[in-house]
Amino acid sequence: MNRAREVLLMTSFLLLATTVLAQEYPVKPIVIVVPAAAGGPTDTLTRVLAAAMGETLKQTVLIDNAGGAGGTIGINKAAKARADGYTLLLYHVGMATSPALYRKLPYDTLNDFDYIGQVADVPMTLIATKKTPASNFAEFLSYAKANKDKLTYATAGVGSASHLCGLIFMNTIQTEFTTVPYKGTGPAMNDIIGGQVDFICDQTTNTVPQIKSGNVKVYGVTTAARLASLPDVPTLQEQGLAGFDLVVWNGLFAPRGTPKPALDKLVAALQAAVQSPAFRTRLADVGAEPVLVAKATPDSLRALLKSEIDKWTPIIRKTGIYAD
Ligand code: ASP
Repeated sequence: MNRAREVLLMTSFLLLATTVLAQEYPVKPIVIVVPAAAGGPTDTLTRVLAAAMGETLKQTVLIDNAGGAGGTIGINKAAKARADGYTLLLYHVGMATSPALYRKLPYDTLNDFDYIGQVADVPMTLIATKKTPASNFAEFLSYAKANKDKLTYATAGVGSASHLCGLIFMNTIQTEFTTVPYKGTGPAMNDIIGGQVDFICDQTTNTVPQIKSGNVKVYGVTTAARLASLPDVPTLQEQGLAGFDLVVWNGLFAPRGTPKPALDKLVAALQAAVQSPAFRTRLADVGAEPVLVAKATPDSLRALLKSEIDKWTPIIRKTGIYAD
């Protein structure tokens, strides 16, 4: 066989193989790593997304809860996974805060991932265990300040959204509390309900059901405007915490080097999900807002992560907090 023919044959074979791969993906279940324990906000959001994307991809989408160290254990697990389209990562603003909070990370946040797109924005709420003797935010503030050496604040570890909200809260009211780290705010919520830990700022995906069932006390929402899911709960801003405005963005990532045909299918499935009325309703019920489809794109998530790192790094450096 002459050289030109050989090259031609080889090229056609490769093209065919790529096309078959592209057509076939996904041939087995896809796993989304959730860097937090089951039952928490990231887990809840990911399960709703997994069901919606699974329908489009005609494949099962499973969850791997890898909580701990403020999400960095799970992020690292996803960064080191095989880049074949079968392991993904769903995480939030913690992707942008951990580079400033940790002296050393075992992964490179901006360069170890391919981007699929933004998923949803989730507001947060300040809640406390039911036995807290305060019926509104002003009472809570004076009670908390007077008992600052006794009260404990739950987090999902350094670098989590609950940790970030706590940092901003403590900084704003100029009072520090002992923090208690959990592998996710699902388990933290059990302890808030049980009264083993006193208060937390956590995403509505975890708190709205507990607030509505009267299992916890709520003192404010972290957004600039009130929430449709909790219309009677005032914002922290309107209760005197000027400038308090925190919403947790969430994005879907893949390990760097994931084949383009797989990434394209994942982007299409994400876009179908955020436009699906069932997905939007399920999230609205727990106070979360799916992004507009224009944001469910790789470019949009990449730009967001970069701008969020630039936004949070100087703010966090000022607090002088570092984790090893
Ligand atoms: N990711 C949440 C947080 O940052 C915790 C969780 O999803 O369990 O607080």
